[in-house]
Amino acid sequence: MKPLFIKNFTLQELEARVAGMGEKPFRARQLYKHLYARNVADWSECTDLSRSFCARLESEVSLHALAVSRVDEADDGTRKYLFRLHDGHFIESVLIPDPPRCTLCVSSQAGCALGCKFCLTGKLGLKRNLQTAEIVDQVCQALRDPKLGSKVNSLVFMGMGEPLANLDQVLRAVSIITDPNGLMFSHRRVTLSTAGLVPQMRRLGTATPVNLAISIHAPNDALRDDLMPVNRTYPLAELMRACRDYPLQARKRITFEYILLEGVNDSPAQAKELVRLLRGVAAKINLIAFNPHPGSIFRTPSMERVLEFQDVLRKANLTAIIRKSRGGEIGAACGQLAAKEGRN
Ligand code: SF4
Repeated sequence: MKPLFIKNFTLQELEARVAGMGEKPFRARQLYKHLYARNVADWSECTDLSRSFCARLESEVSLHALAVSRVDEADDGTRKYLFRLHDGHFIESVLIPDPPRCTLCVSSQAGCALGCKFCLTGKLGLKRNLQTAEIVDQVCQALRDPKLGSKVNSLVFMGMGEPLANLDQVLRAVSIITDPNGLMFSHRRVTLSTAGLVPQMRRLGTATPVNLAISIHAPNDALRDDLMPVNRTYPLAELMRACRDYPLQARKRITFEYILLEGVNDSPAQAKELVRLLRGVAAKINLIAFNPHPGSIFRTPSMERVLEFQDVLRKANLTAIIRKSRGGEIGAACGQLAAKEGRN
C-alpha cells in the first residue's frame, strides 16, 4: 500500500485531518511546529502530544518520505545526498557551502522527461513526479545534517527534474518551505529553475514571488533545439516574451544559467548573440563550465575561453558571474549518483 506522508499536508489540511481524528484544532498547529520549526526525526520527540495521539499518527501516517541511502562529501565541502523513495527510485540533493551562502539544491522529479543532451538526469527519462512530502523532506533531512544543516540559507530547485513539469506539488512544497510557521525560508532565498515551460511560467509568476532561473544554454533556436528538445515546443522568441512579461518584484532579475560546452556554445560570437537575445529582459547570467560525467560527449572549455565569453557580456553591461562547478569528485552533477544506482 502506498504510504501516506504527513508532510504532504498544508497546515489547513492538517487541521482538517486532526479534527477528523477527534483531536482539538490546536493539536494540528502543535504538530506542524514539530514537523518544521523543530524538524523532529521521530514521533517520540513530540513530547507535548499525548502518547495515544502519537501512536495513532505513527500507525496512520509516515513522518519521513525519504530514506538516506548515502551521503558523500567533496574536498570543497559540497555534500551530496542520495535518497531512496518508498517505491525504490532514487533522487539526489546537493548542499553547497559558499559563505555567506549555503545552498541546498533539491530535486522535483525522479528522472526527467526533457532529455537535455548534456544532462545525465535527462538520460534516465522520467520515472515519476515527486510528492510534496518528498520535496519538503529533502529540506528537512538536509537541515538535520550535523555538519552543515544549521547553515542552510538558500534553496534552489535545480536538482533532478523539471520543477515546472510538477508545478502543483512544487508550489505546495514551496508554500510549506516559505511558511513563517513552516520551514521559514524567505521567498528571496528560494529559486525555481526551468528549461522553459512557457505556460507554467505564466502560472508560476502569479502564484509565488520566488526567484526564477531559466536554463538557457544556447543563444539561438538551431543550437537550443539540438541541446534542449523542449525548445522545439517553446522556441526562444516565445520564451523571451514570457521572460519580458514575467511579473518581477522591484529590483529583481531573472537568472539565466548558461553551461559552457567546449566548441559548442562558448564562442565570443555566441556571447554576442546571447546579448542580443537578452535585450529588454531584467537579466543576470550565471556561467558554468561544463562538469563532465561518464559517457558525456561534451568537454569543459578552458578558463580563458570562459573569461572571454564573460567579457563580451560584461562589455554589454550585463551582469555575468562565473560559477564554480562544485563537488566534481563525488559526481555532484545532477543525476550521477542516481544513475550509478542503476535502479532509477
Ligand atoms: S537539465 Fe534539467 S530539464 Fe534538462 S534533462 Fe536535466 S533535469 Fe531535465
